[in-house]
Amino acid sequence: MYYGADYYPEHWPQERWETDARLMREAHINLVRMGEFAWSLFEPQQEHYDWDWLKRAIDILAAHGISTVLGTPTATPPAWLCQAYPGIMAVERNSQRVTFGERRQYCPTNASYRALSRGIVTAMAEQFAGNPHVVAWQLDNEFGGHHPRCYCPECQCAFQDWLLQRYGTLAALREAWGTHFWSHDYTNWAQIPLPVDSNGVSNPCLELDFYRFASEQWVAYQQLQIEALRRVIPAHQRITHNLMGFNFQEIDYFDLARELDFVSWDNYPIFQTGDPAYIALNHTAMRGLKDMPFWVMEEQSGPSGWQVMSRQPRPGQIRLWAYQAIAHGADAIVYFRWRTCRFNTEEYWHGILEHHGQPRRRYYEVQQMGQELARVGEKLEGAMPPKAAAIIMSYDDIRTLRLQPGARGLAYNDIISSYFRALHQLGIPVDIVPPNADLSLYKLVVAPILHLVTQEWADNLSNYVNQGGTLWVGARSGVKDTSNRVVDSPLPGLLAELCGVEVEEYDAIGRASTCEVELDKALLGLGELRLAGHTWCDILQPRGDTETLAYYASDYYTGKPALTRTRYGLGTAFYCGFMTDTGTMLPLVRYLVESTGLEPWSGLPEGVEVARRAKEGIELTYLLNHTTEPQSVALPGAMFELLTQTNTSSSIELGPYGLAILSPVAIDKLS
Ligand SMILES: [Zn+2]
Repeated sequence: MYYGADYYPEHWPQERWETDARLMREAHINLVRMGEFAWSLFEPQQEHYDWDWLKRAIDILAAHGISTVLGTPTATPPAWLCQAYPGIMAVERNSQRVTFGERRQYCPTNASYRALSRGIVTAMAEQFAGNPHVVAWQLDNEFGGHHPRCYCPECQCAFQDWLLQRYGTLAALREAWGTHFWSHDYTNWAQIPLPVDSNGVSNPCLELDFYRFASEQWVAYQQLQIEALRRVIPAHQRITHNLMGFNFQEIDYFDLARELDFVSWDNYPIFQTGDPAYIALNHTAMRGLKDMPFWVMEEQSGPSGWQVMSRQPRPGQIRLWAYQAIAHGADAIVYFRWRTCRFNTEEYWHGILEHHGQPRRRYYEVQQMGQELARVGEKLEGAMPPKAAAIIMSYDDIRTLRLQPGARGLAYNDIISSYFRALHQLGIPVDIVPPNADLSLYKLVVAPILHLVTQEWADNLSNYVNQGGTLWVGARSGVKDTSNRVVDSPLPGLLAELCGVEVEEYDAIGRASTCEVELDKALLGLGELRLAGHTWCDILQPRGDTETLAYYASDYYTGKPALTRTRYGLGTAFYCGFMTDTGTMLPLVRYLVESTGLEPWSGLPEGVEVARRAKEGIELTYLLNHTTEPQSVALPGAMFELLTQTNTSSSIELGPYGLAILSPVAIDKLS
């Protein structure tokens, strides 16, 4: 298994490189990523290159058994380039052109920048394609992380062309966008604006298409780098990009991942929320992009931040987070960064080593994990979680609901994560999939909110249920069509027949208000259960044989259906009209899970996470203790623990921030 660090030899005197390589080897590090911000050193003047320092660094590391991932440096166009080609600089939504001084200043549509990027990537590839120590390439760095959408004149022309390709005629655009509203009709394509601040509140149909266009510009810009590399590099040098998790939603990551050999992403647990379930959601979403193992290309190894630092990782946390990534599908861990930089914007973004470069606590923790992975890493990589439940996510919905949430406080991430947390807490393996995914392998599919629905997606869900699947659809689904117009049939629109239900009325109560819901005791067998919903109430009208499982118990819609279940073909479809929190919905989700034959993990202590990966018929169970206290976890039976190479009884003790990797059989049978 690759275990590494992001290394910036250019930040340190060359006399230090040998010491770094030795310390890395002693920590069992076998991979570094280099080069991704070094354009001004690679090409100090246009078409005058210097690759010698990087070749020297690769050789020194290789002598210590360390392979290299090379980053293309296009996230940081140098000053000479920005001065010579001012048109490459992105324009913000406020119509201000970005100036030189940070990073990611460029417009991905700009023809000059595309040519310059092709030039540096090709020159780099020609230097390193034959280098036996280069195992992979990372394209750019964190696409979209600054200036995700550019509003420059070149982007406006490209957007107008994109619309011409999409709609063909202005009459079709008029129909799709409803441009006769407020006299927005266009008589030629050149009149179509970008949704800049001075437009006020733009047409949401135009806004959604602009989001899609901007996302596609990143995909196209990435593609030109992929093609430039593939023309030169051998097939065994694989290509990736470092994405930013579920939490980053400016680019359609399903599209971006398609042409990559594998997905990587940058995981900073306490820079984000520090909430283990939310980190798990991020890992899960990144694994789902290609439905295959991923890499963590930047794994937090110290306090992080530009102006203000996050807290220091507690003893054991760096190792625990890295194992959590592996538990959810990571096949490589690369820490950001090797040694903390002494200058410029990331002086406070700490790495494994402090500024002074001497090994301390965090280094020894990384070293401990390195020793462990050197022993068992091969047994872990390549495995995937078993297929059990899937959650549907859609970038169209993220954009549509960001433009028009519909209710105060309605937040896409909260809705998705509330269901993810419930399933995760019950120990059910979850995949995060797009609406057009093959659902046939899952016993349960949850669409927490599917706001914008295409006929293709509706058919995919109907086929899944028709063939015996169980589908749960959450409130405010089926509202919009592909153009971001409200549908012209009763809600949930294209999902109404499948769910056997109509939304009679809705009430946008907002996140700060609650509605009471009473579950049907006889049908659900959950006992007397009243719960509080929030944010949104779809007041339901069941069709045909659809059963009502819960009723509203407050406001003028007291007694009206709030949750329904219907048979559709060989399967079952639920429609839940209210939104609520993980804790509140847990009994309902447990009921749902059990109704599909999936088995929740019982008795998991709070703060302990379970995740599974299987390969070659053997499933490994990861138990991760995210608390500061020791925890005792009951097991289904005696198991074999890989890291300690011991047999357990029917329970196991986990230390503070401790973990266990359990196999039903002894490890020697795995090899
Ligand atoms: Zn632009």
